Amino acid sequence: MRRRRVLAAGGVFAGTAIAGAWGRPSGGSEALEAARAPAAVGDVTTNTETLLPDTVHETPLYEIDAAEDGPTVMVFGGVHGDEYNGIVVAHEAASWQPDAGTLVVIPETDVVAVKNDRRGGVDGDLNRHFPPGGEPESELARGIWAAVERHDPDVVIDLHRSLGIYGVHQQYVGQAIFHSPDAYGEDLAVALNDAAIPWYMPFHDFTASTSTMNGPLLFHEAYRELEATAYLFETTDFLLDQETMNEWTRLAVAKLLEFHGLLESGEPR
Ligand SMILES: [Zn+2]
Repeated sequence: MRRRRVLAAGGVFAGTAIAGAWGRPSGGSEALEAARAPAAVGDVTTNTETLLPDTVHETPLYEIDAAEDGPTVMVFGGVHGDEYNGIVVAHEAASWQPDAGTLVVIPETDVVAVKNDRRGGVDGDLNRHFPPGGEPESELARGIWAAVERHDPDVVIDLHRSLGIYGVHQQYVGQAIFHSPDAYGEDLAVALNDAAIPWYMPFHDFTASTSTMNGPLLFHEAYRELEATAYLFETTDFLLDQETMNEWTRLAVAKLLEFHGLLESGEPR
């Protein structure tokens, strides 16, 4: 949303939806523009795989290869089936055009959960099925993990949505970026807060938090087993409409692709 529209909507604060001040002069949308634009050099090629074929978990994986060498970034949507921001943005990212490296996207990771509009699928919460030191605990988790090992990502981004705000609402983790120690978590928080969070929504500023990485979550496992730089991104639906959640998620993914060298935009790092 453009600033002009935010100002025009200034009197509608009591509504259910408060939109982000997208497109401020401070920038931040350059990465997203670069993600959607044709690659800087050569053509990208896209391969589609089917994960867990002939099972209820059957779901597509998209591998988008840039002509230039670079890291492999793997993006997950729909690990929780009722968190649409990640599903929508991962579907979109499947048609983005990285300038370098490889972008691997699974938009509907727990497809049963997505179809049922539930957090968990047939074996419950997929994001608790990756115990340290053990095998993944469900058929779906094993199939997803096999794909992760095959693509051997340098970076893993898992997209989520919470019901409240981390540090404001007890037990909720929205507007937070949990990340491995080697990640650009703080840079992402700064970029998002600068580019996307309106001044009148200070509680919605993103918080970066280095995770201990010793839990049963997919991004923990990617860090432990593959030494991937790993992120778990959480927006919130507290006072936000769906499109605002989607937009902030979109920006986060694009900024991380930029930080990790897949996009030629913004300031060099
Ligand atoms: Zn989630």
